[in-house]
Amino acid sequence: MKILDLHCHTDASDGELSPATLWQRAIERQIDVIAITDHDTTAGVRSLMARAAEDVVSGPELVPGVEISATDSGHVVHVVGLWLDPHSDALESFLGRQQSARDERAIAISKKLESKGLPETYTAVRELAAGSPLGRPHFARHLTELGITPNVGAAFKRWLGKGKPGDIDIAWPSLAAAIQHIQAAGGLAVLAHPSKYFSGFSKCYELCQRFKELGGDAMEVVNGAQTVKVTRDLAKIAERVGLAASTGSDFHSPAQTWCDLGSQPGLPEALTPVWQLR
Ligand code: AMP
Ligand code: FE
Ligand code: FE
Ligand code: ZN
Repeated sequence: MKILDLHCHTDASDGELSPATLWQRAIERQIDVIAITDHDTTAGVRSLMARAAEDVVSGPELVPGVEISATDSGHVVHVVGLWLDPHSDALESFLGRQQSARDERAIAISKKLESKGLPETYTAVRELAAGSPLGRPHFARHLTELGITPNVGAAFKRWLGKGKPGDIDIAWPSLAAAIQHIQAAGGLAVLAHPSKYFSGFSKCYELCQRFKELGGDAMEVVNGAQTVKVTRDLAKIAERVGLAASTGSDFHSPAQTWCDLGSQPGLPEALTPVWQLR
């Protein structure tokens, strides 16, 4: 059986490994197909593609991807794009606007945290991110390095997570716009981790249904280490609303051993796998 991982992050966004190191790990873990889906950037994919042209002969098939932050009825929703053209000018300028919004939010986060007695963090976070679009995980890492929080999880819990001071809204584009930008770049639009937005089944169902109505192609039926029940519910939804199914680890760091590259459970049978839509 082929091992596919269609959702993972490098240090081109909030992942810890460089694209080249992640690629090595994918080879070691005998992954057949891997999509790099960094938050609001394709820089990691592009750097690997340039390298692949030079010296990567064997190894996994690289799927150019992205994970776009969008909004739907006031909720932040992530849309993964797969098999898109990472050199598309239209996509690049759209992602450029996402990155500027992230930078503005980072300034606001730093100011908000300062108002709560923390030191100025924007300058150091920018340095830490080294040109990558700024995300809350960069703040979490920095606060941990400063010893203000014991770890990244605690930083989210106290300062950056939902409803905490550093949880500052961005006017992300609509779900429809995210789908359109992915498809205009030749990609397939996949609703990321649908179980993570709401606690109940029916709201999740409605979101997936809306995603389908807006022209979305697929939904992640498997994302990282999730329970068998969640997989079963999502499979049911995919079948009912008529979305193809995708699978990915949502890998960010080797320290998160529960969602290592390609370690997620398999896709239930009877669903249309997203790669059949290519
Ligand atoms: P952002 O897109 O910058 O708002 O950050 C969202 C990202 O933060 C997600 O994609 C996760 O990678 C990460 N994240 C969110 N919540 C947590 C948490 N509780 N612990 C660790 N990482 C988290
Ligand atoms: Fe992330
Ligand atoms: Fe996500
Ligand atoms: Zn992700």
